[in-house]
Amino acid sequence: MYKREREELINKLREKGIYDPLVLKAISEVERHKFVPEPMKHHAYKDIALPIGSGQTISQPYTVAFMTQALKLKPDSKVLEVGTGSGYQAAILVRMGMRVYSIERQFDIYSRAQKLLEKLGIRVHVKYGDGTIGWEEFAPFDGIIVTAGSPDVPKSLKKQLSIGGKLVIPVGDRSSQKLVIVTKIDENNFEQESIPEFSFVPLIGREGWKEEYL
Ligand code: SAM
Repeated sequence: MYKREREELINKLREKGIYDPLVLKAISEVERHKFVPEPMKHHAYKDIALPIGSGQTISQPYTVAFMTQALKLKPDSKVLEVGTGSGYQAAILVRMGMRVYSIERQFDIYSRAQKLLEKLGIRVHVKYGDGTIGWEEFAPFDGIIVTAGSPDVPKSLKKQLSIGGKLVIPVGDRSSQKLVIVTKIDENNFEQESIPEFSFVPLIGREGWKEEYL
């Protein structure tokens, strides 16, 4: 289903600089139309973010591809995603052979994604809670991907990275963010680069935006 639309999307991602064959293969295989609401299905392979209800979105395919590529993960790596949303990003990581842990702070969204992933037979450990403090029980992670915009890089997430691991997170104000890529060199040393210009829904939590200020 949607074969031609998917091929066109992959060509577009290549043109925009996505080169990692594992990422491109996963995006060509995971059925994005199953992760968007019924009335949006015919837009599923356009390179745009789409509403998934409760004021949240499934990220633009280019953003998913760019962030996933930036993680530079090998198959079988352990990855934490903060912001499960539709479950699509988690499904991409699973298709690439990763062990995926994902946290969502909105109960209705968490519950829908958890049921959908189970129905599709995609194995993700999904938790309802505040992902800004990570998931201590399963740390350290080889990669951490945050799919909502934060005012800063949460300390807990840096702490829960493995040595050599990367954290990819949008950091900025409410309307626009830079994508920050943090690499853990050793317990106390991190390298950081940032890439403009992205726009995400806010990361709300103890080490993110405070809900009352939004
Ligand atoms: N990765 C998702 C996908 O593939 O559909 C897109 C996620 S959407 C852009 C961002 C999500 O982050 C929203 O569902 C939002 O509720 C969630 N979120 C915001 N703050 C959070 C937090 N502190 N912990 C966990 N999830 C959070």
